[in-house]
Amino acid sequence: MNETNIAYCDLVQPQILGIHPYIPGKPVSELQRELGLTYVSKLASNENPLGASPAVLTAIQNELKEIARYPDGSAYALKTALAEFLAIRPEQLAIGNGSNELLELVARVFAGSGDEVLYSQYAFVVYPISAQVVGATGVEVPAKDWGHDLPAMLAAITDKTKVIYLANPNNPTGTVFNRKEWEAFISQVPKTVIVVLDEAYIEYAQAQLNSDEYANGLDYLADHSNLLVSRTFSKAYGLASLRVGYLAGCEEIIQYINQIRAPFNVNHFAQIAATAALADQSFVEKVLLSNQQGMRQIQETLSSLGIDSIPSAGNFLCIDLGEKAIKVNQGLLEKGVIVRPVSNYGLHCFLRVSIGTQAENQHFIDALKSVLLSISKDL
Ligand SMILES: *Cc1c(COP(=O)(O)O)cnc(C)c1O
Repeated sequence: MNETNIAYCDLVQPQILGIHPYIPGKPVSELQRELGLTYVSKLASNENPLGASPAVLTAIQNELKEIARYPDGSAYALKTALAEFLAIRPEQLAIGNGSNELLELVARVFAGSGDEVLYSQYAFVVYPISAQVVGATGVEVPAKDWGHDLPAMLAAITDKTKVIYLANPNNPTGTVFNRKEWEAFISQVPKTVIVVLDEAYIEYAQAQLNSDEYANGLDYLADHSNLLVSRTFSKAYGLASLRVGYLAGCEEIIQYINQIRAPFNVNHFAQIAATAALADQSFVEKVLLSNQQGMRQIQETLSSLGIDSIPSAGNFLCIDLGEKAIKVNQGLLEKGVIVRPVSNYGLHCFLRVSIGTQAENQHFIDALKSVLLSISKDL
C-alpha cells in the first residue's frame, strides 16, 4: 500500500468530521507579530483585566518545588474548601480542567448516537461541540431577545433528549433568565433529562442583579437531582490560564463524571491557586467593582455614539455595528485592540468586547471612534 494515499478522513469517526472547532480570541503576541504593534489591548476572551489575587501568586510560588510530582487526583483540599464555601458536600463536586472539560464529560456520560442534546441559539459554542463529539444530535432552539427561550426549550424536549445545556448569563450575548422563568423551567423538565446550568459568570450577574432577576442554581440541587451546575475560576477569579472549574450535582452523577475524567485532570498549581483564590473574596469584590465601572464607561460611550448593545450581566458586551462589524473589527486590530467577532454564532452584526481596565477600555473607545470616523469617510 502506498502510504501517502491513506485518506485518514475515511478512518475518522464520522461525527468528528463535521465539527467546527472552538475559535479562541487572537493572542496578543500574534497581533504584535502580524502588525508590529507594541501596545495591544486584548478584550476578546472575557479574561480578568485585574489578573489574579496576589495571594494566588504567592501560593503558587510556594509550591513550585512540587512540579515533578503528580497532583492530588481527588483535589481534596480544593474540594473541601469549595464544599464549605458553597455549603454542599465534597461528594457533590467534580473538579475539571476548566469547566469546559466538565461540560463535555456530561455529554459523554449521558448522550450518544441517536440521542438529542438541547441548547439555545447563540449559546456557548462548547455545547454543540460536546454533543457532536459523542455522536449525539445537537438541537438548537431559537433564541428570544438574544437569550434563552425557556418555554420553547421545554417544548423541544423529546423522548430522545438526554442533556440540556443552559448558560446563565449566556456567552456571547450576556443575557440572563430570571428566577420565575428558571423555576417554571426546571420544575417541568422530566427527571430523566439532565440539565446543565453553566454559571461561568455568576459572580458578575449577582453583583448586577437582585435575587428575583437572577437565581443561583445551587439552591435547586436539593430538589432536582437531574440538575448539574458548572462554574469556573477562569473569569471572576482570574485563573483562565490554569484551567480549573467545577461541577456541582447529586452524588451519583458526580461519581460517573469522576469515573471517566483523566486521573490527574487538574494540575497541582491550578488546585493550589483555586483554593487560594477562593479564600480571597476581597479580590473578587475589587474585580466586580472594576467590571461595573468599566461596563458603564463603555456603555456611556456607545450610547453617545448611538450604538446599540445587548444588555449584559457578564464581563463583556455584544455591540451592534450592523454591516460594518467586520470592517470595525479589522480597524480595531490595526489600532491594537482585539475584540471577538461572533459571526460563528450567527451574530454577524455584532462584536463582543470584554470589559478591561479603565486604560484598556479607553483604548477600545478611542480606537472605535477613530475607526468609525474613517469608515464613514470611505463611504
Ligand atoms: C468562559 C466560559 C466558561 C469557562 O470555561 P473554562 O473552561 O472554565 O475556562 C464556561 N462557560 C461559558 C459560557 C463561558 O463563557
